Amino acid sequence: MKPRLRFAPSPTGQLHLGGARTALSNYLYAKKNGGQFLVRIEDTDIERSKKEHIDQICNSLQWLGLNWDEELVYQSKRREYYSNSLEDLLSCGKAYRCFASKEELDQIRKETGSYHYNGLWRNKSDDDINRELEKKTPFTIRIKSPNEGHTVFDDMIYGSISISNSEIDDFIISRSDGSPVYNFTNVIDDQSMKITHVVRGEDHISNTPKQILIYKAFNWEPPIFAHLPMILGEDKKRLSKRHGATGVQSYRDEGFQPEALLNYLALLGWNPGTEEEIMDLEQLVSKFDIFRVQKKAAVFDQKKLNWVSSQHLALQNDQDILDRIRLINTEWGIKKDNSFCLSVVSIVKTRSRSLVDLIDQAGYFFSDPSRFNENDVQKTWKEDSQGILEEIIQMLGTVDDWTANKLELIFKKYMENNGYGFGKVMKPVRLGLCGNLQGPSLFDIMEILGKELVIKRINYIINEF
Ligand code: GLU
Repeated sequence: MKPRLRFAPSPTGQLHLGGARTALSNYLYAKKNGGQFLVRIEDTDIERSKKEHIDQICNSLQWLGLNWDEELVYQSKRREYYSNSLEDLLSCGKAYRCFASKEELDQIRKETGSYHYNGLWRNKSDDDINRELEKKTPFTIRIKSPNEGHTVFDDMIYGSISISNSEIDDFIISRSDGSPVYNFTNVIDDQSMKITHVVRGEDHISNTPKQILIYKAFNWEPPIFAHLPMILGEDKKRLSKRHGATGVQSYRDEGFQPEALLNYLALLGWNPGTEEEIMDLEQLVSKFDIFRVQKKAAVFDQKKLNWVSSQHLALQNDQDILDRIRLINTEWGIKKDNSFCLSVVSIVKTRSRSLVDLIDQAGYFFSDPSRFNENDVQKTWKEDSQGILEEIIQMLGTVDDWTANKLELIFKKYMENNGYGFGKVMKPVRLGLCGNLQGPSLFDIMEILGKELVIKRINYIINEF
């Protein structure tokens, strides 16, 4: 049977990195095994579920390229289904109505010293129950949990997990307002959607035995479970808003590309077992192995994400990068011709961590630097700088073959003839051309800027200091 997996977000906020990683793991497992990846919106919490969050989550999934098969499933549209299923369990005696009031429950807790429900209504007679029903006493519905034995499951990541049934009380599956609880709706839907594997965050591991008991109450075969270890911030605390940007949208806004983000998320707690870590979605599908995901929580490492992202840029086609830049900034380089923009992309991309970073770094290609980094000026501008730059302008004026190679030869010769070190000559030139001292090869920059602009900018810095 082909596997069917699902990502089941609660739309109470935007898609976070943890959610994206869960969605990705489901997607990879499904696709690797020729199966299907579905999305179910768990929007039963009417107060906290918002349409804008649903849109944002779906939008982020699509941007990431995690396209789902079949129609979206909304829990809010399946209420009737849940109440029918509750009725089924009641009529076969696998669940029962509990009319205990809050005061009674508090009293039980006080007496037993535990939150464990003592089964007060588990074995009541039909007469007792009908009397309360007639009085319209509010009730919850509880599952009849077995008093003996163990609930055991084989987690694809954590291995065999066994919980003594005595630790699981007759928990509530439907509240007194008639609304079914998460554990119940989740099981009903996974069953009706024919889900074969449930891959989700480790924070759900304590729900799984309860869900298995619900499957058993219906005589259904539970799916196979995999719980993904948590993602922690660098302070080893669970990744949250305190750690800054944790939403997929903010990474998108910062110019990270989906392939890079997915690649990095896949590498959290997993590695392909080979040197090569840079993979696109298709390669991830073929290499990802959920059984090799580590049990240990993974620490989110922004530096590694930056590295993965710059590796993707380095491998990416320049025109493709340019097209994507234009999607976030339609004006970028629009006054220059395409080949100029492609040359800029080509030399800046390997030094960039994202598209936005590339745009920021490449500013001097499109406008003359008008301010110079003060620190760099102090380090660079010496008494003889002006004289050297004047000589360079003379020298450049005679160059016809304006290529990086040729310029490199000319500069080297000039430095040799005068006994000047590299920094003494090249740093003030770089400052004049770029406004600071960082950037790709200066000869490449000069080739792209062209003779006229290079001479103009050097003249400008001479007059500035
Ligand atoms: N709605 C749950 C969540 O967002 C789904 C958990 C599950 O995948 O079963 O955490």
